[in-house]
Amino acid sequence: MSKAFPAPSSAEAESSQPLTIGMDIGGTNLRAGVITPAGQLIDSVSVPTPSTADRLEDVLVDAVRRLQDTYRIQAVGLAVAGFMDPDCEVVRFAPHLPWRNAPVRRRVEERLGLPVRLEHDANSAAWGEWRFGAGQHARDWVFFSVGTGIGATLMTQETIYRGAFGTAPEFGHLVVVPGGRQCSCGKRGCLERYASGTALTDTANELRPDYATTLPADPSGEEIAAAARAGDALGIAVMEDLGSWLGQGLSIVADVLDPELIVLGGGVSKDADLYLETVREFMARDIVGAGHRPVAEVVTASLGSAAGMIGVADLALRQADMVHEES
Ligand SMILES: [Zn+2]
Repeated sequence: MSKAFPAPSSAEAESSQPLTIGMDIGGTNLRAGVITPAGQLIDSVSVPTPSTADRLEDVLVDAVRRLQDTYRIQAVGLAVAGFMDPDCEVVRFAPHLPWRNAPVRRRVEERLGLPVRLEHDANSAAWGEWRFGAGQHARDWVFFSVGTGIGATLMTQETIYRGAFGTAPEFGHLVVVPGGRQCSCGKRGCLERYASGTALTDTANELRPDYATTLPADPSGEEIAAAARAGDALGIAVMEDLGSWLGQGLSIVADVLDPELIVLGGGVSKDADLYLETVREFMARDIVGAGHRPVAEVVTASLGSAAGMIGVADLALRQADMVHEES
């Protein structure tokens, strides 16, 4: 286990403020961060994600216990990339994790003896941005996480909207090209097949014959963004193509929900300066009533890869306070 931050001073360790652990459980790594009530990340550990459910829970509990050696922890939040029930008790299915219909919240809470809050990873990041980042003060707004795929959250009236079965909203799987690129969800032509980190590679391969380029075959999203920054014609065209699809997708989202704000997060958003203007242009062009109505502001997230840990820690703290007040 590697410590990503220096050891805390004894003053911090002895501080009586209620600290919370926010954990981001991804398919590759599990990150656990110690978060203050003001949303500051003060320490973190990162370990590879095990491939069995038992081992995953062992490693997760061990990470919390190690941080408890140094910090007084009040509650734990778990941000998970997967489907869960609307009450956030059970992980029904997670494509890159071993949990299947697993009552994760209760099991981890029993083992730790601390209040545990379970939440979807995009919802966790959205909550973090709403409380401490780019979404502050917004009432009806959408968080769009653009990474390997697209994850999204709708918040309305200070609440995360989940839908009847807990799966809303799946904006990444809106079909934008009927019969288009095959998606891992089983459908064809989904938005995330045209506007995500993995889509960048497909677009580069498709557009390659039309542009001069120094990019290799099957370039990664990072290589494409770096090439675009260096003035590579194909790299620039691919990033703008992503922006145009994202803008068209967001125009549908805006037509349905009419949000005041859209925050772009996820790994691909760190290169948003290469395509954000294109997003705004296409969204404003394709929205119903274009030119005769206000258009939602589109901005980039501000908490980076810590958003999920910060958000789920805050949710855990709120839940623990609520239980405390009721008892
Ligand atoms: Zn799909």
